[in-house]
Amino acid sequence: MSRSPHRHDHSFGSADAALQNGEHVQASSVVSGRRSEGLLLEGKTAIVTGAASGIGQAVALRLAAQGATVCPLDFHAERLNATVAQIAAAQHPVIPLVCDVTDATAVGSAVAEVAAQRPVDILINSAGIPNIGRLENTSEEEFDRTFAVNVKGVFHCMRAVIEPMKRNHGGVILNMASIAATAGITDRFAYSMSKGAVLAMTYSVARDYLHDRIRCNAISPARIHTPFVDAFLREHYPGQEEAMFARLEQAQPIGRMGRPDEVAALAVFLCSNDASFITGADIPFDGGFFNLRG
Ligand code: NAD
Repeated sequence: MSRSPHRHDHSFGSADAALQNGEHVQASSVVSGRRSEGLLLEGKTAIVTGAASGIGQAVALRLAAQGATVCPLDFHAERLNATVAQIAAAQHPVIPLVCDVTDATAVGSAVAEVAAQRPVDILINSAGIPNIGRLENTSEEEFDRTFAVNVKGVFHCMRAVIEPMKRNHGGVILNMASIAATAGITDRFAYSMSKGAVLAMTYSVARDYLHDRIRCNAISPARIHTPFVDAFLREHYPGQEEAMFARLEQAQPIGRMGRPDEVAALAVFLCSNDASFITGADIPFDGGFFNLRG
């Protein structure tokens, strides 16, 4: 399944680093770079976690379409194959990584495998799990599992890419947080805690690696229609899925859920040099949830 990655010499060292730094770049260096082909991420290598499903899958496909060599990472090998097959069918390079983000050693090996062959330019952390419950009915096991995937998973992946990115004189990290990180949402005690931690990690990393030219941002989606949502409705509202789906749609003032490909479009922008001034930001992706209620 794994295609051998193509070696290339691309690095953030020249025009990219200057763009990242907001410096004026001579037209000739841009023209001679891969942007001249019109793809936003041409020549970049991107690791995308949670790429077997939902937002991570849409992001992986869209990054590939924008010229990136994508390394889709997920612990669900069979479902990951579907993402890999779609990218390969479009004739884009792809390096699948079957890996559990809760396992620091496995994450380290997966990232090292990529970093040994090419610069790691982009990391997108989308692997995550939901958890429903309030303080009094959240078990310690649920708390620990939510923390292990949503918090430590992001920690492991960021820690694994930071050295390769420093060596490469720059990079971009993008974390999927949630509106639950900053808004009080019913029955999301452990989940909200985990996404609050994702935001805190995002700000911390953005600050500490500013001078290494590593940008780190978060997207906070409201409800996005993915298998995550369908599984949630099946499990918690059997027989009432349709009514609950409609209710979830109305939670966004815009009157619907977001689509994974819409999140992916924002992710591409944030990972590209067009977003070179954006770091330490949490971008709401919320259909008006925060500002247009009432
Ligand atoms: P999804 O369930 O469709 O996909 C999540 C992917 O993560 C799956 O492919 C799963 O196999 C993978 N994964 C889970 N645990 C893993 C582990 N330990 N190691 C490796 N891979 C693992 O979910 P989604 O809706 O696409 O959500 C993606 C991210 O966006 C999550 O972090 C979620 O919290 C966040 N988010 C989603 C929504 C939404 O409404 N869908 C809203 C806000 C935030």
